[in-house]
Amino acid sequence: MCRRNRPKATLVTIDDQRPRQGVPRATAPTSAASSGDAEFATERALDLDLLGPPRNDGHGARERNRRSILRAVASQAATTRADLARFTGLTPPSVSQIVQSLVEDEFLLELGPRPSASIGKPPTVLAVAADRHAVIAIDTSDAQPRGWLLDLDGTVREERTTTEKVRGAAAVDTVVSLARALAASSRVPVVGVGVGTPGTVDVDGTVVLAANLGWERVALQARLAAELGLPVRVANDADAAVLAELPALAPDRRSLALIRIGEGVGVGLVLAGRLYTGQYAAAGEIGHVVHDPHGPPCSCGKHGCLETFVGLRAIGANLGTDHPGPGGLDELLAADPAVLPAVERAAEVLAGVVVQTVALLDVRDIVVSTSLSGLAEHLAAAMDPLVRGRLLASQQQGLQLRPPTGRDGDLVIEGAHALVLADMLGIARPVAQVSA
Ligand SMILES: [Zn+2]
Repeated sequence: MCRRNRPKATLVTIDDQRPRQGVPRATAPTSAASSGDAEFATERALDLDLLGPPRNDGHGARERNRRSILRAVASQAATTRADLARFTGLTPPSVSQIVQSLVEDEFLLELGPRPSASIGKPPTVLAVAADRHAVIAIDTSDAQPRGWLLDLDGTVREERTTTEKVRGAAAVDTVVSLARALAASSRVPVVGVGVGTPGTVDVDGTVVLAANLGWERVALQARLAAELGLPVRVANDADAAVLAELPALAPDRRSLALIRIGEGVGVGLVLAGRLYTGQYAAAGEIGHVVHDPHGPPCSCGKHGCLETFVGLRAIGANLGTDHPGPGGLDELLAADPAVLPAVERAAEVLAGVVVQTVALLDVRDIVVSTSLSGLAEHLAAAMDPLVRGRLLASQQQGLQLRPPTGRDGDLVIEGAHALVLADMLGIARPVAQVSA
């Protein structure tokens, strides 16, 4: 996660230092890492493989064990060899061997001995070497794709934004050159490329259809992998965005729904600790479900699709042509009095979606995210009483309907970073920055 706008996660020791150069900092032993019950309980809450079991990559058990250890150290659930053996269930010699290889590969570093009251050699505390590998994260949910090069802990090293609006094959070429330029600028090995894009994305990372980008069956993941020679993971933008909001989830919560409103409308779902994309990778694709068959005509040819009520066009912000100004919702409201009733109607329709989501999935954390500044806050506040009015008291227990904790405009790109950590390294929680 990018640390600039991110609240501090409960388990990690974070400093606010901006990009560092060179080798991992020598750090004093930390007593923050312990294997107490609280940490174990929290770790269980999100310790599952966020993206499901690792795909068959030919490494099998060895790779799974490396991922388990990296994940435990990243979340500080266990940070000494002895704690790791207890935590993962692996034998101490196996843990030592895997830790040794992770230290040699510069994914882990040894911080030094942990102060201990017991007799004998104090155990060495381990941490993830956040700046010895990099991640490329790309967001194509805008007509001007942009990319970041980040450390494993989310420190942004390099930012690039394309200056022209692109569509179709030109947009694919732009994404490839963006990734190439970021890879070339990295002084450390890149572990992978994550991309958040609008539209349905199948399990192979092919964008089945992204109308606003003019993409139909674009094998973006395969193309990027072939061009860059790096592991690549392409995901729907709402799916990426929901990963970016995970660090804000309370430690005892395991499910989160993020409704993303742009020109279209989609939902990203983390259910029981896993990103849920559905049978045909189309879970959350609700934008073209007909809400009212007598409603306005939709770009898909039908009438009254959900996005004709709640998409940004429906409230007078046409992202397809011109971006709303930096004033966001306030600017729109000042310019056009018809915007306010349109926003209220969108809140009313979305409240219906949230009620069904809560009732159907028993998800109690719902985030409303939009690319128009100020809109998410307004919608969440307007929807809250509507949603509560339609649910049983028992279904309102623990219900939180809110805008994102991070900067809305960065959610997809932060999610693309989280996607790579989860996919390539098995890390579901953000990597801790260890204080000196
Ligand atoms: Zn439609």
